Amino acid sequence: MDEKIALIEAGGTKFIVGVGDASRRIHARTRIDTTRPEETIPAAIDWLRAQGGGYTAVGIASFGPLDLDPASATWGHITRTAKPHWSDADVAGPFARAFDCPVAIDTDVNGAALAEWTWGAGEGANSALYLTVGTGVGGGAVVGGRLIHGLSHPEMGHIRMPRHPDDAGFDGHCPFHGDCLEGLAAGPSIIARWGASLSDLPGGHPGHEIIAWYLAQAALSFQAILSPSRMIFGGGVMETQGLLDRVRARTAEAGAGYFVGDPAEVIVAPALGHDAGLLGALALALRLS
Ligand code: ZN
Repeated sequence: MDEKIALIEAGGTKFIVGVGDASRRIHARTRIDTTRPEETIPAAIDWLRAQGGGYTAVGIASFGPLDLDPASATWGHITRTAKPHWSDADVAGPFARAFDCPVAIDTDVNGAALAEWTWGAGEGANSALYLTVGTGVGGGAVVGGRLIHGLSHPEMGHIRMPRHPDDAGFDGHCPFHGDCLEGLAAGPSIIARWGASLSDLPGGHPGHEIIAWYLAQAALSFQAILSPSRMIFGGGVMETQGLLDRVRARTAEAGAGYFVGDPAEVIVAPALGHDAGLLGALALALRLS
């Protein structure tokens, strides 16, 4: 039987909704602004119905934090978020009821980690970590073919950071922790300090070295805890010219030759480009069968 899979990339500013199949094809897609759950989710369901319905599965790669405990009464709900209107929103339930088929849901970054490990920059590796550095920072990981979950999903964007000596006066931008990784390296923290995105700062601006240094400290923490074969660094900030190479160089310096693996080979760019979100949803849904 042909699989017809509903795909939802649920982001903080937009939902990308699509229709895919088991051959990794995406047949149609649309964009819906993220406003309130009672508007955005029904709009996504209406669009999916207009594509003919008949879905065999639904895959959702969502912003979080999410309740992913299958035994929980609030499985598939967003939990505590700083995003207005979305705390406690049920994301998975409305799709399950609308289409009467299995629903897979995980974080957007776990979805991207799974898609990149299955088809992209982590293909063939025994483990792959995916970190997005954009309006926020988040990470997911596949180890031995399984996505990492514990009590909940990882929150790699919120690890605590040592402070760069030339950045000591900045309090950080995370509403929960101040100067965690997200609070120091996400796009809004860059604009808060220097008034422009990293890619718009001149090449010699110290911001380039400071952000690379923080991301290198994070890479070392990931290496120390997980020893991933690939660390795939994506997101809008990572598209800054030269940043990936700076992160590799600072990671090599700070690692002092201790860790297995050359950062120039372990730290890589994503391979799936702008489809990574929907392909993440697809990879999650294909795990249902
Ligand atoms: Zn934080």
